[in-house]
Amino acid sequence: MTDRQQKIVQNVDQAREMILAAERWIWKHPQAGFTEWEAHNYLKEKWEALGYKLVEAGDIPGFYTDIDTGRPGPTLCIMAELDALDQGNHPEAVNGMTHACGHNCQAAGLLGVAAGLAALGALDGLSGRIRLMMVPAEELIQLPFREGLRKKGVIHFYGGKAEFIYRGYLDGVDLAMMVHTGADRDDVDLGCHYGSNGMIAKTFTYRGKSAHAGGSPFNGINAEYAAVLGINACNALRETFKDQDHVRFHPIMHGVSSAVNIIPDELSMESYVRAITVEAMKSENEKINRALAGAAASMGARLEIHDRPGYMPEWRFPPMMRLVEQACVDLVGADKVAFDYERIGGGSSDFGDVVSLMPGVQFRAYGATGHGHGTDYYIVDPDKACVNAAKAQLFAAEALLENGAEKAREIVAAYEPTFKSKEEYIAFLDSILQDLDAVEYNEDGTVTIRYK
Ligand SMILES: [Zn+2]
Repeated sequence: MTDRQQKIVQNVDQAREMILAAERWIWKHPQAGFTEWEAHNYLKEKWEALGYKLVEAGDIPGFYTDIDTGRPGPTLCIMAELDALDQGNHPEAVNGMTHACGHNCQAAGLLGVAAGLAALGALDGLSGRIRLMMVPAEELIQLPFREGLRKKGVIHFYGGKAEFIYRGYLDGVDLAMMVHTGADRDDVDLGCHYGSNGMIAKTFTYRGKSAHAGGSPFNGINAEYAAVLGINACNALRETFKDQDHVRFHPIMHGVSSAVNIIPDELSMESYVRAITVEAMKSENEKINRALAGAAASMGARLEIHDRPGYMPEWRFPPMMRLVEQACVDLVGADKVAFDYERIGGGSSDFGDVVSLMPGVQFRAYGATGHGHGTDYYIVDPDKACVNAAKAQLFAAEALLENGAEKAREIVAAYEPTFKSKEEYIAFLDSILQDLDAVEYNEDGTVTIRYK
């Protein structure tokens, strides 16, 4: 460890109690995306006590602050997430919500980064600016609620980072970094893999006709059966998904507003169509729409489909991964670090949207146990998940911004983003949005199916 790195370790260790308290507090106050006001307000107070002036999103949770080294150079954004998940079966769920993805540790870790950078001399020798950002709504859940916010004009996109990009909060940022909490690896402290799926988010509603379920079921059209057929039609497609595309389709059904003695006339579902390329996201989504619509047609039911932009595929930039890996090795030693330059994860994150515009790395700090998003998920080593995460990010920031921000400049210059501008990115995402009346019954006995 260099003297500078030792100083970072000391600075973060001085904030350890505050970091660990934040981890516990936020764990106990889980809220879903775009409603995380309790965590927002808790963190706002801590950040302001450290002397930061925050720019708050205002009508949604989340904030950022800028730290200027006073020397020219690129702007590095370090992010963390605020939101929890509907995991009502977790023993420690609060109001049906749990931090079963460990975002509470991310938020606590970024508080540690903020504390470390507020320490005397923390910016000595660094160039450029650092933007620290607390972002809402990474988990793309509760789609009808988000559609309501979109229709009211509060948000334009369902994902917090996509929304922050849309609002201009990443304008002028050149590269980005974040840590995600990792579970179930006792052998290592810090890790990273190469890529993660992108996805299209969708809600769809089957509509049938209600009737007395005992007296006159022959007068009804069972929307629930149509939905089950739709799921089965999609399941029959699964072997047409190419292995290399990493396609995932995992619909959930909402409850029917019906009774056991009524043929249900409406059933809504949500799903993602995930894949590792934008082309596969779009082509497989079309196949799924066609299958869902065909199932409706087979029963005389109708189907509304609402496709919404989800997240872009996430590719971490290998030269930046190597720099972050070295920072992790400097902190905990090579035997506690696992960076995989080939593995692709099936999950998705709106950090994919960030790296569609600039180089970035989302890496992992372990310290949780159980399954991510599961009822057995707990934080067991908050020092690893939060305190180490803060130190590792500060080590990486130091490596990027020292020596006139030489490494950051090299990485930015070498990166070829998917989109040349924010406007191009927004136009692409907007092009995914579609509302389809997917099945139409014609007078002449034909059926029209719209799937794209
Ligand atoms: Zn997560």
